[in-house]
Amino acid sequence: MSHIVVIGGGVVGIACALELQDDGHQVTVLEPGPIGEGASWASCGSIAVSEVIPLSKPGIMMKAPGWLLDPLGPLTLRASSALGVLPWFLRFAANARASRIKAISEDISALTLPSLADLQAMLARYGLSGLLRSTPVMELYDSPEELAHERGFHDMRRALGFQIDEISGQDAKEMEPSIAGDFSCATVFRDWRSVVDTKRFVTELHRVFTERGGTVKHARATGFLQNGSGAAGVRTESGETITGDQYVLAAGAWSKNLARDLGVSIQMEGVIGYQTSLTAPGVDVTHAMVYAKGGFGITPYESGLAVAGSIEFAGLDAEPNWKRAEILVEKAKRVLPGLRTEPAQRRIGRRPLTPDTKPIIGPAPGAANVILATGHGQLGLTLCATTGKLVRSLAAGRQPNIDMHAYRADRF
Ligand SMILES: Cc1cc2nc3c(=O)[nH]c(=O)nc-3n(C[C@H](O)[C@H](O)[C@H](O)COP(=O)(O)OP(=O)(O)OC[C@H]3O[C@@H](n4cnc5c(N)ncnc54)[C@H](O)[C@@H]3O)c2cc1C
Repeated sequence: MSHIVVIGGGVVGIACALELQDDGHQVTVLEPGPIGEGASWASCGSIAVSEVIPLSKPGIMMKAPGWLLDPLGPLTLRASSALGVLPWFLRFAANARASRIKAISEDISALTLPSLADLQAMLARYGLSGLLRSTPVMELYDSPEELAHERGFHDMRRALGFQIDEISGQDAKEMEPSIAGDFSCATVFRDWRSVVDTKRFVTELHRVFTERGGTVKHARATGFLQNGSGAAGVRTESGETITGDQYVLAAGAWSKNLARDLGVSIQMEGVIGYQTSLTAPGVDVTHAMVYAKGGFGITPYESGLAVAGSIEFAGLDAEPNWKRAEILVEKAKRVLPGLRTEPAQRRIGRRPLTPDTKPIIGPAPGAANVILATGHGQLGLTLCATTGKLVRSLAAGRQPNIDMHAYRADRF
């Protein structure tokens, strides 16, 4: 039995830890924060299997310059971090070409096509199937033009094997009676699901992991102790060194600095999003929804109705700009006219986003016993179980059933 140290106990780290544990390893997870309060805490909670078109898609690139100048627009860049983000942004922009959009979508879909089945199998294995709702997810459009603009992308998704139906605004209202009656049309993502609560999702996985003999150590990794060929230990803030046979770096947006300590340069930004949990929303909602024009999601969690979204480039230590969360909640009233917006609990999350929107999964260049499992951007929850399976194969030296070339760390 080998000892594997997983750095980061977010949704990706704990899914990897469980898979490694199932494969017979002794596993220690290092997690400095409260369990389940990483990026996934602020998530829309969707298993967004067909969200395979990169964020750099042309529509976004056309709108981005205007948005960037508006501190309260859907996508913004804080002046203090503009210079630091520039190299990332140039790479991001280079991925807006049609040929890149197609290639990236294919690469992401290789991971998302099995992701729902992987997640269902993982949850069933641990008696946690109740964490997943069975309802699909709906996207709402104000006008036929908005849907027409997206149709090309939906066709790409269909061609890759995903199920997307177009319905009228009236049919959407029949599916979800609390929404406004004047939506023009909607799409139903038949193969998406949503979770009942993202914090509980991560917390329950941690519970199972520790009940099965796993160790969660409250510790912040600060770097690696290195030998000639890889890592010989993880140094922590308290001065300890945690040793293992192998290491998995799954510290979300914070992975970049730790990888740099190994001499690995990861292109990744911690892109801020906000979630507001409305604990007495005054409306009944059964489907998770996306409001296309607003660029945010509304998800029924057991802890309240969550309104989540926003894309903000700021440093890892930047203070939240809660005004951005408030704006999303105001816009959510357009979708749900009966929405009560108090009491509200606000959360911030940092999506670990690469310039090509693809995750980084694979051995760290130059450090054979370190596996990188990070950069999942807006898909970490969707891809957690699939990533766990891949990391399990890599740790055992088995060839994964997916070609891993597209997700390697040195592709940038
Ligand atoms: C508004 C919003 C909406 C989203 N909606 C969705 C969605 O609908 N579907 C979806 O699939 N994804 C969604 N996402 C993305 C998803 O939340 C992330 O991709 C996912 O949470 C990333 O998981 P992770 O484990 O890599 O990172 P995290 O969840 O951030 O976990 C990383 C962990 O590492 C720990 N850590 C940090 N530094 C160190 C260190 N030095 N040593 C040890 N540990 C450390 C942190 O404390 C944290 O717990 C959304 C994100 C946001 C912000």
